[in-house]
Amino acid sequence: MLPWLKVSATLKIKRYINMSDTKPKTKKPRGVASLRAGKCIACGARCQSSCPVNCIEMSDAGEPIIESAQCIGCQKCIKVCPAAALEMYFTAEEQKILAELAHASGGSVAEELDEEGLRLQQMLASYRGVWVVIEQFEGVVAKVSWELLGTGADLAAALEVPLSAVIIGHNVGHLCHEAFEHGADKAVLLDGPVYTHYRTQSYTEAICHLIEKHRPEVILMGATAQGRDLAGAVATVVKTGLTADCTGLGIDGKRNLMQTRPAFGGNIMATIMCDKFRPQMATVRPHVMHMPERMPGRAGEIIREAFAPLEDAILVKVLDVISDRDGKDQVDVAAAEIIVSGGRGLMNKENFALLQELADELGGVVGASRSAVDAGWISHSRQVGQTGKTVRPKIYIACGISGAIQHMVGMQDSDTIIAINRDPEAPIFQIATYGVVGDLFQVVPALIDKVRALKRHNSSGSARSAA
Ligand code: FAD
Repeated sequence: MLPWLKVSATLKIKRYINMSDTKPKTKKPRGVASLRAGKCIACGARCQSSCPVNCIEMSDAGEPIIESAQCIGCQKCIKVCPAAALEMYFTAEEQKILAELAHASGGSVAEELDEEGLRLQQMLASYRGVWVVIEQFEGVVAKVSWELLGTGADLAAALEVPLSAVIIGHNVGHLCHEAFEHGADKAVLLDGPVYTHYRTQSYTEAICHLIEKHRPEVILMGATAQGRDLAGAVATVVKTGLTADCTGLGIDGKRNLMQTRPAFGGNIMATIMCDKFRPQMATVRPHVMHMPERMPGRAGEIIREAFAPLEDAILVKVLDVISDRDGKDQVDVAAAEIIVSGGRGLMNKENFALLQELADELGGVVGASRSAVDAGWISHSRQVGQTGKTVRPKIYIACGISGAIQHMVGMQDSDTIIAINRDPEAPIFQIATYGVVGDLFQVVPALIDKVRALKRHNSSGSARSAA
């Protein structure tokens, strides 16, 4: 007999035996998906896009309308819902069958996890710990890394796991102690000549090696040029999700990282979750999170790792490092404590001299809206907002800036916001601590005069008291 005939005969016999020897099994009811009243958070139609039979439509309020007759009870929408707003509905008859099946199997059939679900649970449970990748250049750490240790500490506390700083470089052992003083419980250290300069390949290989070995559940990096490059490369290799430029981070009831960031041109805030892959990766821009208070003398555990890719295997070589510190525009708007920003209301490039005058008197720097940058009145390095810098100064003075959402996401966390605008309805007034409705060309010179008068008054006062 030919081999394929043999197989076919065996199948036939099996089917025959099944039919004759066993009672027909009671089929487990699948139920239909239904919405739990008041639970939907209008996350953006995740349930609709997960449905394989297109039985979900969205209402104007962004809530699902389920066509029960078409639902096949696959539970995909239930698994994807971030707010547990969907549940399975079983008729009284189906509930009776479920109860009988549960009784027969000695457990709850409805809550049985399928094989795929079990595998997922085991995989998720095998990842523990929060990591912050510390960015450094010639042994000096980018401040955003310390800010992230502050946020990482909150996440680690919520997850009840240690917070680790991942430090990669050459002769950077001293940074472990700095990391402990900024809140890290552990420091994973990779120190070697191959890591002297940042290179995508060597740093990516290093982090991927560490991930495989230690399996952290959350990894945070600064949304700097280096962080953006490295995070994307690592997430691609380890096949996980990455949310860039987060403005808020938290933990939900299932240990998922809730990653909030502006979406659709900054018009909505989206909370993104990566619930089926680990680690969960996010980048955060400088100055978005608070700098944690330094705790001098705080200690932690150093985990020294020996992994080092072979220099010959790395395609990119660093021949020279050219600093841009000698460049024309050396002002770091993001680090300034006082910012005087100008928008389209300034009318032209020359009028920015007025803002510079006020900034000089206050010891601050000049910033700008995108409109002013696009008009060529000031360089892009001064732009504040979604596609510019995120700033958190003590004082932010917005002159002739309307307050578009894309501008406000970049400066709304300033301690004090002073808005000068001739339109009383300008949205900037909604977030301003102090608002001046008026012509900036009258208000700003008046402010400069006032500051100068105050300075004169103070210096004559201190001269008098010295005499
Ligand atoms: P306008 O909106 O034109 O406002 C000018 C204001 O000046 C008005 O309120 C007016 O009343 C006032 N004014 C005029 N003359 C005077 C006067 N003499 N005295 C007092 N007030 C006066 N924008 C950013 O700023 N940063 C970003 O990073 C950014 N990223 C973006 C990303 C995307 C994807 C998109 C779509 C847009 C982005 N924008 C960004 C652009 C943003 O939407 C606005 O267009 C921009 O912020 C408007 O700039 P403005 O307030 O200077 O100009």
